[in-house]
Amino acid sequence: MAEIRVRTRKTQEMVDITGQIEGALQESGVSDGLCFVFVPHATAAIVINENADPNVCQDLLDALGRLIPEGSWRHDRVDNNAAAHIKASILGPSETVAIRGGRLRLGTWQSVMLVEFDGPRERTVIVEVK
Ligand code: ZN
Repeated sequence: MAEIRVRTRKTQEMVDITGQIEGALQESGVSDGLCFVFVPHATAAIVINENADPNVCQDLLDALGRLIPEGSWRHDRVDNNAAAHIKASILGPSETVAIRGGRLRLGTWQSVMLVEFDGPRERTVIVEVK
């Protein structure tokens, strides 16, 4: 198991972590199997999507922002970040990718991305290769 640290720079953003995961995968020496990527945080998520056009990431953040407005939820009385929890729950904390020939078997336009909803802060990503 490897742990990756990701420093996010904005309140909300998507960070491509494919290269860091590939690095952990190479250190594992596994050539065929599964790579499980998990973020142990309640206001961040892991998704797989396109990163060639950065508008795809911005569109996803904008769409979630329209669906889930800020500041009108019960948990906002605790630490004012209920929307971040809801968005993270919808996207989910993990993804699993097949490994073939020591590489992630992603599609041409796919990247693994950490989605930050309550940054900036340092996030941990757990990478389990089997
Ligand atoms: Zn909270």
